Amino acid sequence: MTSAANTPLKSVLSVLEQPRSNWIGDGFRVYDMFNYRKDTELHTPFLLLHYTAPMQFEPNPHAERRGVGDHPHRGFETVTIVYDGEVEHRDSTGAGGIIARGDVQWMTAGGGIMHKELHSQAFSEKGGPFEMVQLWVNLPAKSKMTPARYQNITAGSIAEVALPNDAGRVRVIAGELQGNKGPAQTHTPMHVWDVRLHAGKTAALPQPAGWTLTLLVQSGTVSVNGETAQCGQLVTLGRDGSGLELQAQAGEDVRLLLMAGEPIDEPLVASGPFVMNSKAEIAQAVSDFNSGKFGSMNAEASVG
Ligand code: MN
Repeated sequence: MTSAANTPLKSVLSVLEQPRSNWIGDGFRVYDMFNYRKDTELHTPFLLLHYTAPMQFEPNPHAERRGVGDHPHRGFETVTIVYDGEVEHRDSTGAGGIIARGDVQWMTAGGGIMHKELHSQAFSEKGGPFEMVQLWVNLPAKSKMTPARYQNITAGSIAEVALPNDAGRVRVIAGELQGNKGPAQTHTPMHVWDVRLHAGKTAALPQPAGWTLTLLVQSGTVSVNGETAQCGQLVTLGRDGSGLELQAQAGEDVRLLLMAGEPIDEPLVASGPFVMNSKAEIAQAVSDFNSGKFGSMNAEASVG
């Protein structure tokens, strides 16, 4: 593959093996691909990536629905991308809804929210294949206490961009590709792209210089700027350069999640579901939570 002139390739810093999985509540078996406890400068503005790789759930018509119960968030955003299966959410503002196959929920926790995340009733009853990503996106200090809100991004509202030479397609969730803007409104510049590359095909997807770039390989085997990465692996690139050249190995299509962003290089102090800029702000978050300032889940009846 030839590089476009004046587009030095971004360097590949690491190709990480799929880590061990753990369960979040009883609903989500996740691979903790990266999190804010280490190497935050490599992935900023992204804080955490939990990948629920494809798995099968049995029908569960009578038992309590699987999921994770009431919990708070403050200081960042949670982005839930459902590839297969169906997730229901309810929160302390009284809002709620279904995140269906192909949909994305972009939740700004901001100053604080309480919510729960469950398998939908329909999915619980039928069971079936399930695949999901939850990506945590940091907020800059000036926006950490912004009011909580949701962007419910349906599959149909996500621009799908065909790659040249029938190489595949990109669903632009956030950011822009070839003039196609993703529906997500973000607080800092970033690309969150759902990429499919047909077996044996190549694509050049340059990213802004100075941004971080991380790829989650969800199926197939792909060469990333010359380094091979397999299904389940995480590829972390440097802030240097801007070129990104992908080549799907023959035999199987490649699916990957591309996360690129302008770094938020600010102090980061985190504790569980709170990600702030100082210890004092974390103490305040704990105090606010304990005194009920995140609201409560009184929409219980409608959750069922
Ligand atoms: Mn949550």
